[in-house]
Amino acid sequence: MSVTSPIPDENGIAHTALGQPCFYCYNPCTDPVVHWSGSTGAIYLHPACVSALFIRLGRDVHEAECPAYYRQVREGLRLLAERRRSA
Ligand SMILES: [Zn+2]
Repeated sequence: MSVTSPIPDENGIAHTALGQPCFYCYNPCTDPVVHWSGSTGAIYLHPACVSALFIRLGRDVHEAECPAYYRQVREGLRLLAERRRSA
């Protein structure tokens, strides 16, 4: 993980995000943004988008760990919608 900048590092390399789309919102990036490299490539994220993505990732992790709870929630929402339609 790193933070992009148009200012060259000690090796004379500028790691900028200009021209890159944000992984989360797809809007163009301007430095500084968060940059992560993974096994399938690199992603760039606006700082505000990191928080939004993190919240949703955390929710998905919780669903993966507690699938019965989320099935119950979905069933409750389905029943509620059904009651509203028939009212
Ligand atoms: Zn973004």
